[in-house]
Amino acid sequence: THASEVQASSGALDVLRRVFGYDAFRDGQQEIIEHVIAGHDALVLMPTGGGKSLCYQIPALVRKGVGVVISPLIALMQDQVDALRALGVRAGFLNSTQDFDERRVVEAQFVAGELDLLYLAPERLRLPATVELLDRGTVSLFAIDEAHCVAQWGHDFRPDYLMLSGLHERWPDVPRVALTATATPATRAEIAARLDLERARHFVASFDRPNIQYRIEPKVDPKKQLLTLLRTEHAGDAGIVYCLSRNSVEKTAEFLSANGIEALPYHAGLDAATRAANQARFLREDGLVMVATIAFGMGIDKPDVRFVAHLDLPKSVEGYYQETGRAGRDGLPSTAWLAYGLQDVVNLRKLIEGSEGDDAHRRRLTLHLDAMLALCEAVDCRRVRLLDYFGQPAEPCGNCDTCLSPPQSWDGTIAAQKILSAVVRLDRERRQKFGAGHIIDILLGKKTAKVIQFDHDALTVFGIGTELREAEWRGVVRQLLAQGLLAVESNHGTLVITDRSAEVLRGQRKVMLRREPERPATKAAGAAK
Ligand code: ADP
Ligand code: ZN
Repeated sequence: THASEVQASSGALDVLRRVFGYDAFRDGQQEIIEHVIAGHDALVLMPTGGGKSLCYQIPALVRKGVGVVISPLIALMQDQVDALRALGVRAGFLNSTQDFDERRVVEAQFVAGELDLLYLAPERLRLPATVELLDRGTVSLFAIDEAHCVAQWGHDFRPDYLMLSGLHERWPDVPRVALTATATPATRAEIAARLDLERARHFVASFDRPNIQYRIEPKVDPKKQLLTLLRTEHAGDAGIVYCLSRNSVEKTAEFLSANGIEALPYHAGLDAATRAANQARFLREDGLVMVATIAFGMGIDKPDVRFVAHLDLPKSVEGYYQETGRAGRDGLPSTAWLAYGLQDVVNLRKLIEGSEGDDAHRRRLTLHLDAMLALCEAVDCRRVRLLDYFGQPAEPCGNCDTCLSPPQSWDGTIAAQKILSAVVRLDRERRQKFGAGHIIDILLGKKTAKVIQFDHDALTVFGIGTELREAEWRGVVRQLLAQGLLAVESNHGTLVITDRSAEVLRGQRKVMLRREPERPATKAAGAAK
């Protein structure tokens, strides 16, 4: 049946069955859809894969006029529109990738009411011509996808989204539905305020993904740790490995391939054809591993991604949740695995220090990172922490790493004092770059070339830290960075003390640390190249 025939005569459930071929609504969908069909505004918070698209697609099919969807995902519009057309839905899009003639065709279709859905890039609303165009046709609803992009507090702010605050004034009778998969209470409040949706109904689905097992472990030899995970638990499975840099994407993909695991790279530095080909293979074939920067994954709908692995620390809990959320959309058990280490904290702190924008912006980035670090260093249930971040209470899950083997904590006050004393002592030689490795060498009493060059074996702190192994000291430094008791000086990456460290040095503050687990087992992986 052609979608347009269905439109006039039938309700939401009928459209779901006849157009989309599904039997029943998922939790929450029907309520939202009926609310919007009735012409009311809505703010929808639903995790990735929850089924947000139908919440505006079906109302657009049922209501008179064209549903206008604002989406920042320009690269996906063609695919989204093609998929809808394959179902018989009359869809089109307007964005900067089209030439004048292509746009003219779509505009004419819109004005003639020959579309059910029109996807629009947010920057088009800056053009008076777009506003005039919308006035010439009949808009059935506005769907604001990825609505967190309007929030400066969020992790993915896009200035063009601020234009969307004007929709309501210009078209007061057109219902609006704003949708997002990541919204902390603060972001949600900002979305509602900016889009004037405070009085609209808010639909908040559970953000729990019970089939995802969350695991975060210290980074020792990350590629080997990854290989162990894939060989022992995910042989033959499809999955995504996230890396921060293009270079590490390439290296990791090569490493996995050399070790018999079929892996493809994906990052913005590859040409568009290669990216498209790799993405298509990942979607179509079974058991491929995609090694990617976070450029990969937005809007990717592959139900059987069995694991998402992070080899570098995400910059925010929102990012972590969004990326790990790509695992297990089919509801089957899946793994979210992250390896993180001292260098991650150093790198990200440096990145923030050196980032563009004002102090307020840097402060936001710091708070986002701190929340992510707190999740990493958590000694209680990861899921409880994660859901708490999104404002949802939960019980310990019994399935994450910290539930399965609760980490021990220990009084690290003296260890912290030793490190901080060494940092203070080296601070007098400020022009030099002394990273964590050098400071640990001093505490362990190692006479390295650098130690000898600077006479650091003559310091009183030389050799006072032999009670801990090097890896344990790195864990201490990492946790002090995470707790804000150490900081990284932006220019050189030198460790410096903070206001709070003074309390530790004066013995006024106790430092509790998480005990590093014994070296993660790498035996099962066999020899990696
Ligand atoms: P989101 O935008 O929330 O990430 P999508 O709208 O892309 O999620 O939906 C995720 C997947 O679930 C899609 O493949 C979609 O077709 C499917 N889906 C959505 N609603 C239903 C339903 N009621 N029954 C079956 N599948 C559904
Ligand atoms: Zn748990």
